[in-house]
Amino acid sequence: MLDFNSGANSRRTNNNINDQLNSNNISKQLNKLIDSEIIAKRKQEKSRSYLGASRLGASCSRMLQYEYRNIPKDEGREFTGQALRVFEVGHVFEEMAINWLQNAGFSLLTKDSKGKQYGFTCARGKIAGHVDGIITAAPDSLNMQVPALWEVKSMKASSWKETVKKGLTLSKPIYAAQIALYQAYMEEQFVGISKHPALFTAINKDTAELYHELIPFDTHLAQRMSDKAVNIIKATEAKELLPRVAASPDFYECKYCSYQNRCWEVEND
Ligand code: SF4
Repeated sequence: MLDFNSGANSRRTNNNINDQLNSNNISKQLNKLIDSEIIAKRKQEKSRSYLGASRLGASCSRMLQYEYRNIPKDEGREFTGQALRVFEVGHVFEEMAINWLQNAGFSLLTKDSKGKQYGFTCARGKIAGHVDGIITAAPDSLNMQVPALWEVKSMKASSWKETVKKGLTLSKPIYAAQIALYQAYMEEQFVGISKHPALFTAINKDTAELYHELIPFDTHLAQRMSDKAVNIIKATEAKELLPRVAASPDFYECKYCSYQNRCWEVEND
């Protein structure tokens, strides 16, 4: 027979306190180990040698130029272990969304014959992008035209709600720019993809709610983003620093920028 009732109450209280201390301790120590591994793994990844088409909708060309040049982020602005875990969790959600769509009757290409994501390069490899999927067939009831680009993003509840309320173009212009560019540059591989609206899927990471939106091809946006990319590449090759997006480091985008110190303290112009 078990007998956990014997012993003084004080001993039980002390044990509880000790358990809590141990629990806090192991949590901190274990997270440190997990984070140091995930950060080390990130550091081993090869740096990009191209301008990512998924980033071109960012409003500051100077920031994109820093990214393209692989300039290290300001001290203390590198991704933390937690941030890197958030990215990984997002990838898991996105993998799940592929299954959800396929089970709902979509034919979705996500990897080519070599097991790699579909994508494109242009400007002699200086601009590149990787797409989440190509829809080649959709349930008849949806009346979708194919082939169509599919992009998926997972986001926290507040961001997801804003996307549902305002729609992709207003709430997430970076993603809208990404989709326009991908539709344009994937046309060569999947004829007709730029004529058919893309399907954008947003996953609420807190509740697993899903939002889908059809995004018609925006020619002007694709052209503007493509011109912006060429401008960044040309300026970089000419060793010119592109202008800042703002007149003061207090601008809200600068406050969150990973290059704020370099941009406002180190560079002189
Ligand atoms: S600090 Fe502001 S202006 Fe400078 S690169 Fe970042 S976003 Fe652009």
